[in-house]
Amino acid sequence: MFKTPRGTVDILPDDQPYWRHVEAQATELCERFGYRRIDTPIFEESGLFVRSVGEATDVVEKETYSFSDRSGDSMTLRPEATAGVCRAYLQHGMHVLPQPVRLYSVSAPMFRYDRPQAGRQRQFHHVNVEAIGDPDASVDSEVVELAWRFFAGVGLRNLTLVLNSIGDQACRPGYLEALRRYYEPLVPGLCADCKRRFHENPLRLLDCKKESCQPHAREAPRSLDHLCEACRAHWDELTASLDLVALPYTVDHRLVRGLDYYTRTVFEVLPPAEGAQSTLGGGGRYDGLIEQLEGRPTPGVGFACGVERIILNMKRQGVTLAQQAPVKAVVAYVGGAAKGPALKLASDLRAAGLSVVLAPAGKSLKAQMRFAGALQASYVLIMGDDEVRDGTVTLKEMAGGEQRQVPVADAATTLEPRWVL
Ligand SMILES: [Zn+2]
Ligand SMILES: [Zn+2]
Repeated sequence: MFKTPRGTVDILPDDQPYWRHVEAQATELCERFGYRRIDTPIFEESGLFVRSVGEATDVVEKETYSFSDRSGDSMTLRPEATAGVCRAYLQHGMHVLPQPVRLYSVSAPMFRYDRPQAGRQRQFHHVNVEAIGDPDASVDSEVVELAWRFFAGVGLRNLTLVLNSIGDQACRPGYLEALRRYYEPLVPGLCADCKRRFHENPLRLLDCKKESCQPHAREAPRSLDHLCEACRAHWDELTASLDLVALPYTVDHRLVRGLDYYTRTVFEVLPPAEGAQSTLGGGGRYDGLIEQLEGRPTPGVGFACGVERIILNMKRQGVTLAQQAPVKAVVAYVGGAAKGPALKLASDLRAAGLSVVLAPAGKSLKAQMRFAGALQASYVLIMGDDEVRDGTVTLKEMAGGEQRQVPVADAATTLEPRWVL
């Protein structure tokens, strides 16, 4: 028997209210902030991610799903949304639009070959926002605010917003040098991943989740102490803006985010008292990214969060949502001659806007009533020889058992009395 591939799940009907709720909240909020929806392909040329996410990141090194298509071109299932959105910004000449261009996507499928665990799958879905074309700290503040309000909007409480600045091309080399000097004597005691990171991507030493590496990260030099004047001014304005709109943030010097393209602002939103890999979502500024994609230098800032992880936390926090409403009525019939008129009635009622299903064929009336009960329908409409002859239908209320004849033409208004003019 076939099963879902490891790290993937079916989103079954009972879970759909959570998905619809998260999507509706994200859509409403993003549009309230002036963002417009964009959907990009789920696969892109592999080079796009190597160029943007970075060759030495865990994502590109170990986690991408890549394949050669039939013409031999290397394609990659997208591991994140920003690269594709920036590619679209360039491809469609969005630099001529008023800047920043505010874009969002909802429940966009992403793919990473990762060890599956709670809230972490190989196919997962992102809510994603990008504001491209404006370097100002007020845009960073806006994106952080949008993220914060989104989590509150889906019903999550007691969250922590952590914030940091990792500088830019001007000041980061000096900071990385300080980091290397600090870590050099510690290398023998680091985990295998960190030994590699020390050479390839020293910033990532700070967010190692291994217990043995964490004390070193806590004492490591801080990027905020190495910011150039411009980055310092940007940081000061961002924190002042967040204070102004009363967003509670915690500065964490170990927050660096996993991807190479971040500059200056990085932030994450964490659920209450959880393990290390529990980030709900995060983002930051990526002023160098579009240049890496061979566009003219264009600043950007964005945010992404995993829908699966949001829903997991909604359930943990006891957020409950109504299930999809059951069908209003089941149309039952007795005798072959009534089948056609029953089918026609179900069709007419659906055309009138009611949710109605036809009972399964070849069943006794009693079995059809049981079927309606299992579906939690409010009514059963019964067609038999008499009803067909008289142009009526027998309407039975499932709750009280009350039963009466109504003209077929009146069936819709009888089921939804408020529609009577
Ligand atoms: Zn480590
Ligand atoms: Zn700087």
